[in-house]
Amino acid sequence: MNARHLAPGELYRDSAVVLRTYKLRESDRIVVLMTKSHGKVRAVAKGVRRTTSKFGSRLEPMSHAEVLLRKGRELDLINQVDTIDSISPMLSSLERAAQGMAVVEAVDQLSLEGESDERLYTMLVGVLRTIGEHPSPLNVAAFFWKVLAVAGVEPVLESCVRCDESIEDGVELVAFDLDQGGALCRSCRSGVAVSSDALEAMREILGGRLRQALAREESPVTGEVTALATRALEHHIERRLRSLRSF
Ligand SMILES: [Zn+2]
Repeated sequence: MNARHLAPGELYRDSAVVLRTYKLRESDRIVVLMTKSHGKVRAVAKGVRRTTSKFGSRLEPMSHAEVLLRKGRELDLINQVDTIDSISPMLSSLERAAQGMAVVEAVDQLSLEGESDERLYTMLVGVLRTIGEHPSPLNVAAFFWKVLAVAGVEPVLESCVRCDESIEDGVELVAFDLDQGGALCRSCRSGVAVSSDALEAMREILGGRLRQALAREESPVTGEVTALATRALEHHIERRLRSLRSF
């Protein structure tokens, strides 16, 4: 969906999560925002690198804020920032900070400028709150798998993606192949080996038992699910970039 067209100079207000920032000139910074209604926006925060900046630390990656922006010809200008969710819980442990950065980086790669995606914005705000309030080794993996499911690329986990034999009929699924789109039995196997516990955790995430998945302790299984989710998301992003380039 395209965001409403704004004329240069026009002011607009939106809620946003900061995905990334980079230096621009001496004291300014470009802030990449995932907004609720205007998609991904790159905007200039003037004077943000001065210690006396009116923005303080409200424009750090993972910050969730209400922003007032002025539409520019190329880059918009940030006029005002009011914090919605503080990032301090995210910075209270290295693991939380790493999880938070992993999700904002993924959203940065998944979103397009000028194309609003309120669902992705809402999912991002939700996962950042979860990371801050309810630490779990599967927070990032659950977010990635849910984003993939929303994008229409939910993996097949209940049966072999090639021969269609179901786990209910006693078939054991032993492999996972991203190009095939899911799990495979012993005779059809391709891709990477996967444990039955990891497949079960993925079924919990995608089958309405998220709470159960997030209650899992850190283990080789949570590591396996996270590695698979990361690879699946990268695969999806690469494929989408290729299809965008071919137009
Ligand atoms: Zn099979």
